[in-house]
Amino acid sequence: MTGRKMKIAVLKGDGIGPEVVESARSVLLAAAEKNSLGLDLIDLPIGFEAYKTYGRTLPPETVRGMEECNGWVLGPLSAGAYPKDDKDYPMASGKIRKAFDLFANIRPIRSLVEKSDKAIDLVIVRENTEDFYPDRNLFKGYGEFWPNEDTVLSLRVITRRACKRISETAFELARTRSKKNLVTAVHKSNVLVEGDGLFLEEVRKTAKNYHDIRLNEGLVDSIGMQLVMTPESFDVLVTTNMFGDILSDVAAAKIGGLGLAPSLNSGEKYAMAQAVHGSAPDIAGKNVANPTAEILSTAMLLEWLYSKYGDEAIRRTALSIDEAVRNVLSDGNSLTVDLGGAASTEKFTSTIIDRIKKERAR
Ligand code: ATP
Repeated sequence: MTGRKMKIAVLKGDGIGPEVVESARSVLLAAAEKNSLGLDLIDLPIGFEAYKTYGRTLPPETVRGMEECNGWVLGPLSAGAYPKDDKDYPMASGKIRKAFDLFANIRPIRSLVEKSDKAIDLVIVRENTEDFYPDRNLFKGYGEFWPNEDTVLSLRVITRRACKRISETAFELARTRSKKNLVTAVHKSNVLVEGDGLFLEEVRKTAKNYHDIRLNEGLVDSIGMQLVMTPESFDVLVTTNMFGDILSDVAAAKIGGLGLAPSLNSGEKYAMAQAVHGSAPDIAGKNVANPTAEILSTAMLLEWLYSKYGDEAIRRTALSIDEAVRNVLSDGNSLTVDLGGAASTEKFTSTIIDRIKKERAR
């Protein structure tokens, strides 16, 4: 082993969470061993599993455990189904994002097999702490309420600080990618004149510090259509919380579905791997879920840890995972059901692990 040992928390979550996280864990362990990266994986309870023991879906014990780790791998959560007496209702992952200030949600959408000029390689940079999300957009209280029995008010919160931070994240990312050197700001400022006006003001201000990157702006409805028709024309997209959430599912459809869409939640101090998809209760426990999104999210976490700690073994481990996943997908002999194959989650995982073991040393 070389360098520093990485301590990573593993939070399985609900629905297909235990299956896809178990897969990501075993791929991570195999790649770390191959690349001499020291790893300490710590299991922490979250979701229904935590509720059974602690009466809440994000117990303080879990939060304390997370604080002691360098990064976290989180499975999907069935937040909508949590009991109303859960102290963390409605959403443990929203609480985590807020408590640890994970202000950026980075969602790459890449064609993992396609190589032509129609290949898609874009990243949605989504603000993660405010906007229409009532579980995290207030200091105290809940951002949705009933003034009378027939009316609901939902608050939208947009702050200059959050817009600035997410814009900077997007421009920095565009620079490191060296692809089209293009940032597209997605908004609805013709309707949300003030909130998205402020968002655009901050994006434009940030753009002035990045002369090498072009700024394009588009209304969310029009960008939604362009993502379906010409997804290959995009590079980095930056947007507010809810638009980012919706657009990333739309874009995921263009690369083979949610099973292939990874994401990273990151802040100044912490980062968390978390697939874009939810807990998919319809296929939970059947050993058919596609773990690619969770596995690639874990590789993204490693890249983030590399940028923080600079240890080459971390970078090699991330590359190993990425390459093995791409190779197994392009071989096409062991694909999961959502991709038209017949391989179980476990079979797909063991094929990736075999691939990692056979790789030549980097
Ligand atoms: P939640 O309520 O937790 O958001 P959901 O079922 O509403 O869950 P998703 O889990 O995001 O929404 O996914 C929608 C559908 O896409 C699932 O019902 C499932 O059929 C499919 N799906 C999602 N993730 C995967 C995956 N990793 N592998 C295969 N199919 C998936």
